[in-house]
Amino acid sequence: MLTSIAGRSVIVTGASRGIGKGIARVFCQNGGRVLVVSRNLGEAEACAQELRDAGGEARGHAADVTRIGDMQTLADTAAAVHGGIDILCANVGIFPQARIEDLSVEDWDHVMATNLKGTFLAIKACLPYLKQSNQGRIVITSSITGPVTGFPGWSHYGATKAGQLGFIRTASLELARHGITVNAVLPGNIATEGLTALGPESERSMVASIPLKRLGTVDDVGYAALFLASKEAAYITGQTIVVDGGQTLPESLDALAQT
Ligand code: NAP
Repeated sequence: MLTSIAGRSVIVTGASRGIGKGIARVFCQNGGRVLVVSRNLGEAEACAQELRDAGGEARGHAADVTRIGDMQTLADTAAAVHGGIDILCANVGIFPQARIEDLSVEDWDHVMATNLKGTFLAIKACLPYLKQSNQGRIVITSSITGPVTGFPGWSHYGATKAGQLGFIRTASLELARHGITVNAVLPGNIATEGLTALGPESERSMVASIPLKRLGTVDDVGYAALFLASKEAAYITGQTIVVDGGQTLPESLDALAQT
């Protein structure tokens, strides 16, 4: 058993649905006091209500990670309602698909601003409070796409997800003196609303490429994040955990066929 995170103040950005909601649920079930963040207040509050109905402690908060003012208000709010910030899960990410020849400069900038700059802004705003925690933890949601693999149409997305890993290697060094760890989870194909909307055929083809023969669940990612946020992970920083059912391991189609 890991030491409980009960009573810890947790922020999860991009938590109204998908992986962020799974992370928020796992932290709530383990006693965290969670601020559920998305741009849409109604959806953030609906998620928080669901978590409260299940016995957790959660509040909804509207903020856009591309705006430093929103991030500062978010940090101040978390500190005011939950007495500080112990754990920041910087999870927001968008993945509009476009091949390079069709990708506009504006769309490139928007994905960079949301996924990469948004990660930086959330961390920068929360830092003064994380420094006051005796167990500061930052867990970023990256992806296998970019750091490990590629996928046509996701050059911009992959660049942000690989960029997040470059960022954490220096961030973990800078924050070590404050006892704050900075790590990332790298999900593979996770069953989220967005992914299921692609239809059963695409789901079948994704599952066929996964040795464990199923899509990941949002809870699979949530538990990896919970471990990185735990007291027991205190000596792990600047590192990554791939949560992909073995998807990135087979070195050939033959290797996959033999699983
Ligand atoms: P999702 O279902 O599309 O949810 C995205 C969340 O982020 C929503 O709560 C959304 O709410 C919020 N959001 C979007 N833009 C925002 C902004 N500018 N400011 C604040 N909140 C914002 O996404 P997901 O599939 O769960 O992905 C979550 C993370 O996991 C991303 O970083 C993604 O790259 C990564 N990931 C996902 C998969 C997968 O299989 N799904 C695989 C690998 C990595 P609003 O729109 O209301 O703001």
